[in-house]
Parts: sequence; structure tokens; C-alpha cells
Amino acid sequence: MPQTSELPSARIKRRGLMLVLSSPSGAGKSTIARNLLENDHGLELSVSVTTRQRRPSEIDGVHYHFVTMREFERMRETDALLEHAAVHGNFYGTPREPVEQAMAEGRDMLFDIDWQGAEQLSEKMRADIVSIFILPPSMAELKQRLKRRAEDSDDTIAMRLANARNEIEHWREYDYVVVNDDLDRAYGAVRSIVAAERLRRDRRHGLFDFVSGLLDEKLD
Ligand code: ADP
Ligand code: 5GP
Repeated sequence: MPQTSELPSARIKRRGLMLVLSSPSGAGKSTIARNLLENDHGLELSVSVTTRQRRPSEIDGVHYHFVTMREFERMRETDALLEHAAVHGNFYGTPREPVEQAMAEGRDMLFDIDWQGAEQLSEKMRADIVSIFILPPSMAELKQRLKRRAEDSDDTIAMRLANARNEIEHWREYDYVVVNDDLDRAYGAVRSIVAAERLRRDRRHGLFDFVSGLLDEKLD
């Protein structure tokens, strides 16, 4: 059996895609993103900059680049951010350079960003974006998940819950909507979306050569 990467279908060149995951805080988007990154080595995370305090479980440079307000402003002013927004009282932004490089090289990137970021990226790079909104099964479960995560203070949890309604209002702006009731099912749905989107004709410029080759092939 040949390696998958050696199969003719794997050699058809295509543009990279930008997978945008958004949800109200606590719905499970980071958990789904983590599963995707562990199992799909063709996807890499766009590591955002943020002015928020690091959570105990987070590693600087892996989950976020934790920066001061001054550093954040400098990046914004020098156009080093592809998009940026204030979310739950902190600032967040997507560094431009790694994304442009990944797209040029046909690699896929994952963005864990809010609706404001998704909107800004869609204005700039619509053809490359696949956006998914993750919904919780109920508001009561959302509250439980925020509490169970146990990484934020009670005040922060209360603010995030209050902001959830506003976030959810934006569900219509996304290409796909997945309800995260059962984690395995929700994760499976996201994987299916990624698999299908990678096969879209308009992303696969290598199909021109592949089909020409097929039609030119001489049979005995
Ligand atoms: P978000 O990134 O959307 O803020 P997280 O991925 O941090 O949310 O998930 C919040 C909490 O809910 C975490 O403790 C996570 O383990 C848990 N969680 C995620 N998905 C589910 C699910 N389908 N069922 C139960 N708990 C879940
Ligand atoms: P958290 O503080 O829980 O990590 O993230 C809070 C919210 O900010 C989440 O909705 C997350 O998706 C969003 N977020 C994280 N990074 C970025 C970013 O670079 N840009 C934007 N617009 N939102 C972000």
C-alpha cells in the first residue's frame, strides 16, 4: 500500500483554507480546536496576541502570545495584525505574517476568534474562509461548563455569560453551525466540514493539470 501522501490525489495542489471557529465562551470551541490540532497535522493554529491575563493552564507562545497594552498598540499601529477586537474587556488580535505565509504555501490554518474577527477576515479573504459557529445545547449547560472549567473568577464568568447572548446573535454570519451537545459528535461534524471543504473544486487549482494529464494519457 502506498503512503497516502504518495497517492495521485494527494499531489493535486490547492490553496490553503482558513478555518474560523467561534462560539460564546464556554461552548467548547477550544476543546474542539485542540482535538482537531492533535489529529489533523495539516492544520496549524493561528496563535493570537492578547492583553488578557494568562490562565494557569496556558503557555505563552502556544495558546496565545501574552502582550502588554503598549505592545498590542504598537502591533495595531504598524499593521502587524490582520484583525483585532476587544472581547470581554481585553484586546485580541491575529498576527498577519504567519497567516500570509501559510496561505502562500497552501497550508491550512485554524482561527479561534470571535464574531468581530470573523467579520474582518471575511471582508479581506472571503474565498479562503470556512467559518463554523459552535452553539451550546442550552444556556444552563453553558453556565455549568464555564464553572467546570474553573479557570476564571466568578466575576469573569458572570460577564462572559452576560456577553453570550450578544455572541449567539451572530450565528447567521457563519457558513456552518454545530451544536456541541455530545463532544464526539460535534468534533466529528467539524472534521467532516473540513474534509469536504478541502475537496472544493475552486480551491484545487492543481485539478487543471491533473485532468489534462488524464485526458492526454495514451492507452495501449
Ligand atoms: P470555549 O473555548 O468555547 O470557551 P472550552 O473548550 O474551554 O470552551 O470548554 C469549556 C468547558 O466545557 C471545558 O471544561 C470543556 O472540557 C467542557 N466541554 C466542552 N465540550 C463539552 C461537551 N460536549 N460536553 C461537556 N463538556 C464539554
Ligand atoms: P479567551 O479569553 O476565552 O481565550 O477568549 C475570549 C474570546 O476571544 C473568544 O471568543 C476567542 O475566540 C476570542 N479571540 C481569541 N483570540 C482572538 C483574536 O485574535 N481575535 C479576535 N477577534 N478574537 C479572538
